[in-house]
Amino acid sequence: MSLNSRNLNVDHDKSSWKEECGVFGVWNHPQAAEMTYLGLYAMQHRGQESAGIVTSDGEKLHLHKGLGLVSDVFDSYKWNDLPGKSAIGHVRYSTTGQNLLINAQPLKADVRGKPIALAHNGNLVNSLELRENLQKQGSLFQGTSDSEIFLHLLSRIGGDNWSQTLPQALEWVQGAYSMAWMGVDRLVAIRDPMGFRPLVIGRFSDSSWVVASETCALDLVGAQYVREVEPGEIVTIDSRGLTSTQFKKSSKKAACVFELIYFSRPDSQTFGHHVYEARKKFGESLALESPVDADMVIPVPDSGVAAALGYAKQSGIPFEWGIVKNGYVGRTFIQPLQGMRDLGVQIKLNPQKALLKGKRIVVIDDSLVRGTTSKKIIQILRDAGAQEVHLRIASPATVSPCYYGVDTPEKSELIATQMDLEGIRKYIGADSLAYLTLKGLFKGLGENEETFCAACFNEKYPTRVNT
Ligand code: AMP
Repeated sequence: MSLNSRNLNVDHDKSSWKEECGVFGVWNHPQAAEMTYLGLYAMQHRGQESAGIVTSDGEKLHLHKGLGLVSDVFDSYKWNDLPGKSAIGHVRYSTTGQNLLINAQPLKADVRGKPIALAHNGNLVNSLELRENLQKQGSLFQGTSDSEIFLHLLSRIGGDNWSQTLPQALEWVQGAYSMAWMGVDRLVAIRDPMGFRPLVIGRFSDSSWVVASETCALDLVGAQYVREVEPGEIVTIDSRGLTSTQFKKSSKKAACVFELIYFSRPDSQTFGHHVYEARKKFGESLALESPVDADMVIPVPDSGVAAALGYAKQSGIPFEWGIVKNGYVGRTFIQPLQGMRDLGVQIKLNPQKALLKGKRIVVIDDSLVRGTTSKKIIQILRDAGAQEVHLRIASPATVSPCYYGVDTPEKSELIATQMDLEGIRKYIGADSLAYLTLKGLFKGLGENEETFCAACFNEKYPTRVNT
């Protein structure tokens, strides 16, 4: 690829390289690998398909990664095989067909004789073109993940100091990237200029640092929250301490509002908001916008809990634990008997009949995507004897896919693109249905819509995408 030509269009990557991931990094800690394990464990919700850790012992990088949960991948792994005081780690979720070990992160490579490793959260929107161009120029890709593009770009640019040439590589990429990089002598944290995905800095001491997608990871390792990595910032941590450079400024900021609605853990501080409080506020806004006469407010566990508390508080209707979730249901449920497949949602969620019988229920969930979950939940509530079931959704209608790292289905699979509100209400079988408006969402947040990406709700993509 000629790095002088600027002929790369921003293009939607139509492959299924969508990823929802978590990244973690630690600098100068005697138990770097163990800390990273804990950090990833706290962020397991961000990706369950693969996990990996790379450590630096000051001379070499050491890698272990595998498919599965953090506890599966590192179960019997001996920490002695991951020596060193610094590390980065990654948990990954990929869509079907791309769950290959080769795509598991961190990615490790020798770039111009120097070992480096990379953990990436987010999705590039011009990855197809970049990949094609790099391949034409002779780059040999090992996997199908867009993250590998960073390594090839860096390799082509060259130079002795990879973290200094990184900004040149980043000139080429468009889209969402919050990343941790590890060299033998440094940890580097980067966030794309619009700041789609979160990334925060924490510290153990003045010489021992942590970076993480979410603050819940800092809590578990006992690190103190310092600040966010700013959009367009490269933070380098080495033996001299922490230095910051702004590699690119963008007037447009695009923090993903869906992190606050669903994706981040409620106990995290994301984009400066306590996620739990933000969700409660969404519930309060929803109660103001779409009140209903009912006997109790119940959440869809666990995604609707905080919003349901807010709705109950604002409406004065009592909050009840109407549906109990079996927290031990794994992804690979073994059918004990033939013909039990229609157990479906009841394997995981059980309505409390004694509580619900004859009652008018407001059920709250964070989002409505395909509508299949809500349909089943409403059915089990009716089967449990509920007299009325009113569904309230603590976000606007999902009308468009995400190209920046959240795995939303194709447009045609989104129920709100196929039916109007009344059609959806009928389909899911609710007595009434209402979504939170975009205005109500940002009012609840106390933020300006312009500083967030809400493209899944308003189709205003902050970069060009081919839909
Ligand atoms: P659906 O049946 O497609 O309407 O799914 C809605 C449910 O899926 C809600 O309970 C959400 O909490 C959850 N959800 C929304 N977006 C995602 C996502 N990107 N990945 C996994 N679950 C999601």
